[in-house]
Amino acid sequence: MTDRHIEDMERRCPRLGGSVVSVSYCTTSGTESLPCFKMPDCWWEAFDVDAYLKERLAGPLYRRFIESAQKPQNKISSLIEMINMAKRSKIDRT
Ligand code: SF4
Repeated sequence: MTDRHIEDMERRCPRLGGSVVSVSYCTTSGTESLPCFKMPDCWWEAFDVDAYLKERLAGPLYRRFIESAQKPQNKISSLIEMINMAKRSKIDRT
């Protein structure tokens, strides 16, 4: 499977209430434009998320992503992140 094929894959986003998003959206929709912390949960059945992100992110960015994915999300920061995701999703569609 090529990177281009992976980037174009789509699924319903549980954090956006079911809106359809692509992998390329997920790779930049996390905190500080890192990948969304839920990527391993959302995409593990479709492709090797860890290998894909390791290849795409420079070492320090990959480590920051792993830390963000492992850190428990407190409700307020998770809510703020979801609001920002919804805003970006709306902007991408216009
Ligand atoms: S990885 Fe994040 S942005 Fe992508 S579908 Fe899952 S929850 Fe939504």
